[in-house]
Amino acid sequence: MALNGIQIFKMTPKKNCKECGCPTCMAFSMKVAQGAMDISACPHMSQDALDALSEATAPPMKTIKIGVGENEYTLGGETVLFRHEKTFVSKTRYAVALYTDMSDEEVEAKLAEIPKVDYERIGERMHVELVYVNCGEGADAAKYTALVEKAAGLNRTLVLGCSDPEIAKAALAVCKDSKPVLNGANASNYEAMSAVATEAGVVLGVSGKDLNELYDTVAALEKAGNKNLVLDVTGETVKETFANAVLVRRAAIQDEDRTFGYPSIVNLVKIAKGDKFMQASLASLFTAKYGSIVVMEEMTYAEALALYGLRQNVFTDPQKPMKVEPGIYPINGADENSLVLTTVDFALTYFVVSGELERSGVPCNLTISDAGGLSVLTSWAAGKFSGSTIASFIQEQVEPKVKCRKLVIPGKVAVLKGDIEAKLPGWEVIVGPREAVQLVKFLKDMKA
Ligand code: SF4
Repeated sequence: MALNGIQIFKMTPKKNCKECGCPTCMAFSMKVAQGAMDISACPHMSQDALDALSEATAPPMKTIKIGVGENEYTLGGETVLFRHEKTFVSKTRYAVALYTDMSDEEVEAKLAEIPKVDYERIGERMHVELVYVNCGEGADAAKYTALVEKAAGLNRTLVLGCSDPEIAKAALAVCKDSKPVLNGANASNYEAMSAVATEAGVVLGVSGKDLNELYDTVAALEKAGNKNLVLDVTGETVKETFANAVLVRRAAIQDEDRTFGYPSIVNLVKIAKGDKFMQASLASLFTAKYGSIVVMEEMTYAEALALYGLRQNVFTDPQKPMKVEPGIYPINGADENSLVLTTVDFALTYFVVSGELERSGVPCNLTISDAGGLSVLTSWAAGKFSGSTIASFIQEQVEPKVKCRKLVIPGKVAVLKGDIEAKLPGWEVIVGPREAVQLVKFLKDMKA
């Protein structure tokens, strides 16, 4: 059960020394109770108090790490049911499934398809992060391990769908260092599966025939000391799966029942049953509604473009503008004599404009000033992208580094041309196009 500020305050050292960044121990306690600070920020807390408080003040949902190196991902750690209440913190990760009953050709074809979806959008890499390797009925350890080894060759984090402890043990022997998830514990095998997962140091996926059974199995695993879990909430039908995903999250966040305070796996292969369109819609649904890992038959560009765009929107912190750092961004091998363009620090604007500039092939320096992370017209209307702000940024940051004295401003703020010229003696200010897509032609015409 979460503690309130007064309960936390009773356990603080009451020195009011401000070392935690708060003016008093009471202010610190209030922030910890709201989840805005971690109890470890106070260096004077006794170990007994830390032990007592760290569990009670921890987020209602555990943060679970899977994978290693560049393939390490964080799941869970959520504190709200709805993104607008605060923010979601750990984005949904997508897995493409392989099965032991696939032919070698089918496996090769799927492994060749997975890396094809790999692109960047607003600074974020969009690709299939996980491969789900399913052990079908009748497969033995040798067959499953061979498939796991093949999948591991793709250098993605694996999720092993296997409920046989002996087969799982053999498969983990070849991939445990990459910290896969072992998804396969249930009411009848959880003790053996937990032992296998714990020995390999990997996260264990738990399922149940219904939520009551899932709850009891998780409680038993916790009692046995395993809290490194994800919950497979996939049911027999879409309706049941959706209800499971929502009820588990509500129990964790709203009712603060930590037995259900774990990330979730939703296996669309089981409920979309080969219907690609259904799979695409369900992937969107479970991205918004609580799938930490969503398992799919495939991820083509047609699915990815919509899905990753949705994910980026859902998992972007609404309290923080999407900004890039102010500065000079040389494009196409630009040097100090290359043309200077300027725009705002809103990330979407930056990536759209820089993409078009790259496409033009013309060497140029894109300069970005601090415009509050707003779009061109919004920042202009708010006074954050004005003649004064642009001129002072150019004088302070650009003039010492760039010799060219031609500055292209966005066409939407053509009205600023005279003001900037008056404030930037020696500069020729050129009004650029209103839309980024027109930049390629604009730059080529300028060169001609
Ligand atoms: S660092 Fe600890 S003792 Fe000092 S003010 Fe913060 S909570 Fe109180």
